[in-house]
Amino acid sequence: MVSRVIPVEPFDLVIFGGTGDLARRKILPGLFKRYCAGQMPDTAQVIGAARSPMDSDAYRAFVAEAIREFSPSRFCENGALDGFLACLEYVVVDARGTDGWDELAQRLGPDRVRAFYFSVGPGLFGDLAERIHLHGMATSESRIVVEKPFGHDLETARALNATLAEHFHEGQIYRIDHYLGKETVQNLMAIRFGNVLFEPLWNSQYVDHIQITVAETVGVGGRGEYYDRAGAMRDMVQNHLMQLLCLIAMEPPAKFDPDAVRDEKLKVIRALDPVEPHHIVRGQYGALDGEHPGYREAVGNPRSTTESYIALKTHVSNWRWAGTPFYLRTGKRLKARSSVINVMFKDAPHSIFGPEAGRHANLLSIRLQPNEGITLKVTIKEPGPGGMRLVDVPLDMTFADALGPEGEEPPDAYERLIMDVIRGNQTLFMRGDEVEAAWAWTDPIIGGWQARGEVPKPYDSGSAGPDDADLLMKRDGRAWRGITP
Ligand code: NAP
Repeated sequence: MVSRVIPVEPFDLVIFGGTGDLARRKILPGLFKRYCAGQMPDTAQVIGAARSPMDSDAYRAFVAEAIREFSPSRFCENGALDGFLACLEYVVVDARGTDGWDELAQRLGPDRVRAFYFSVGPGLFGDLAERIHLHGMATSESRIVVEKPFGHDLETARALNATLAEHFHEGQIYRIDHYLGKETVQNLMAIRFGNVLFEPLWNSQYVDHIQITVAETVGVGGRGEYYDRAGAMRDMVQNHLMQLLCLIAMEPPAKFDPDAVRDEKLKVIRALDPVEPHHIVRGQYGALDGEHPGYREAVGNPRSTTESYIALKTHVSNWRWAGTPFYLRTGKRLKARSSVINVMFKDAPHSIFGPEAGRHANLLSIRLQPNEGITLKVTIKEPGPGGMRLVDVPLDMTFADALGPEGEEPPDAYERLIMDVIRGNQTLFMRGDEVEAAWAWTDPIIGGWQARGEVPKPYDSGSAGPDDADLLMKRDGRAWRGITP
């Protein structure tokens, strides 16, 4: 099935941090793919802005290299790359200085959408917002895209919201959480709210529990300094995992409109129970012999007590979910890269087939990466003449197989989200009050382990995390699903 592409209107996109890692790996290759798909018009203008001295030609060469490295080669055919590069400009700008800003303002076209992507460290967000305003670039068609981390805690998130609000209203602020741009995440909403099959079962009467796992095989990489100040709770749980939890748990919004969806997500965050200390497990990865350094070595802090792994149990205290636990876990250097939401249904209330047939609960598995797709495990009779024995079989929909032309990956989250910014659709972006509510839930958890002086449990690189995480489940008579690629 070939997806329909509706071109967006011509726009100006300024990428502050246009020479950085995120711009090279995600933003620019994502835009290029949208250009190749015919969605980004030739008259659009993308301006890289950073301090590194170079002219627009040098920037085009820099971007061409990034695209060759990070875009599948088939997208570089038929002169498409030249066409895309012709849309690019570069301006030398210091977010904290004065040079370059007038030049940037002059490059922007009148009467078109202007998006300013803040792909720089969060310490510069306020400076950028202020200068955009000061140099007359903030029009009613302007919007800013803010990368994570959005604050370090509730206080800093509030301060950042207040700073941005001095120059832009909420409808112009796009706080990005790239998990929300994944095809599967939107499919989760389509499955829930576009079918009658699931919604009647989507509650504590039928759902035993929910597991949300975001497992990474990578370590902290070059982000050691930042990560050691943040840890898994701030880096992953406060944003990505909580957003996924919200989409699973929220009530149906009256319509698929940004504020209706975000109102419902906010209600979920506000309904989350505080996490009991014995319902949370923190871990820190050790070295993998001869291959990778352990966490402390990687961040250059031999006494670090920052967690690279979290597993926790919480409840959404409302009518729909009372009694259904939500188990969340995420970690680095785990055995496989796998992000998956498992909705574990309850057993059938009574087995008419007797104990020898076996009992199998239904499972809805929503895979975010790799191999985005959705699997529903249903129980059938084991084939053959051996009597009535039951087995699980998957009803599987892998999106790449089901929907894309042969071999085509679903669009990367950044591709979709940048186009949403240009179209002015905030549905998949976090609102300021959502971010603050998420910090209000996270802060006491972090404060609690800091007050108790807790040290994370060590776990082996390449494992499924600390053993205590298994105990967290075992105590409830449950088990984590395996972490498989
Ligand atoms: P990075 O590789 O360190 O790049 C930072 C960019 O900011 C560079 O282009 C740098 O260029 C520019 N910059 C630094 N100081 C500046 C200043 N005073 N004025 C103007 N430009 C300045 O960082 P990154 O990994 O791309 O991350 C960018 C943002 O995205 C961060 O907030 C990060 O947390 C977030 N993020 C990144 C990723 C990722 O995968 N990389 C994922 C999620 C979120 P010059 O040195 O030339 O000025």
